[in-house]
Amino acid sequence: MLCVDNYFTGRRKNIAHLLDNPAFEALRHDVTLPLFVEVDAIFNFACPASPIHYQRDPVATTKANVHGVINMLGLAKRLKCPILQASTSEIYGDPIVHPQPESYWGNVNPIGPRACYDEGKRCAETLFFDYHRQFSVPIKVMRIFNTYGPRMHPNDGRVVSNFIVQALGGEAITLYGDGLQTRSFCYVDDLIEATMRFMVTPVEETGPINVGNPVEFTIISLAAEILRLTKSKSKLVFEPLPQDDPMQRKPDISKANAVLDWVPDIQLDEGLRKTIAYFEMLLQDSPTMFS
Ligand code: UDP
Repeated sequence: MLCVDNYFTGRRKNIAHLLDNPAFEALRHDVTLPLFVEVDAIFNFACPASPIHYQRDPVATTKANVHGVINMLGLAKRLKCPILQASTSEIYGDPIVHPQPESYWGNVNPIGPRACYDEGKRCAETLFFDYHRQFSVPIKVMRIFNTYGPRMHPNDGRVVSNFIVQALGGEAITLYGDGLQTRSFCYVDDLIEATMRFMVTPVEETGPINVGNPVEFTIISLAAEILRLTKSKSKLVFEPLPQDDPMQRKPDISKANAVLDWVPDIQLDEGLRKTIAYFEMLLQDSPTMFS
């Protein structure tokens, strides 16, 4: 197993427990530069995924999704090996069709602050299907809906980690907009299970396949659940809704169910408990991390 990361948002301590394993190797590399290695399969997850991170250097975000994807597809083409793309529910933008099936083409603002990610990932899908049609590269395109779990960075900026860190630190919970926008949250272990199942499907199974937990929550109800589980007395504060923030999101996962024989196992309550336990451990180890 070769793990390639430029550590733009990832952390070496997240893989520290694997470094002693002789079957595991870590390589610091940015996929926007060519990579010459020998492998049997490629999982391309390279790209910052949190809005604050991917908007910090939007050109680098587009490069990861275009130059990086061309490099990884070129590697798969040379090695004649399967390649899985971590695509995204952001393909659907601010969706008018609800829930979102894979057949929906989406509603994306091509010039807004989220476009580097949304259009970058859309272009990545185009490249995947063109390499498949033109060069017969075996592709697997997986559209991931909001995923969370242990080992997220305390400053990741996405909603689940923000609310947990704020609740545990006794700080105000920052709700953007009125909190009535919705998301459907998938626990990381469920996502990994679907990813591994997809990689070993027959070559004809290219996707795209939605992977996520179809149980939909408003953001304000997520805040209430985290306050309940952490027994926190943090107050809610309302801040402006970021531009182009999607109002609703919920995957139609009937294709994942049919093709991968998969449904998520871990519901929000259990997943949040595990994630809260992780952040409590971080807080004990390093209380200043939260200040
Ligand atoms: N959000 C929020 N407070 C936060 C962080 C996020 O209210 O501190 C909202 C955000 O506006 C969005 C939702 O939570 O409507 C999910 O945001 P996130 O950044 O986690 O993911 P994405 O918008 O990419 O789905």
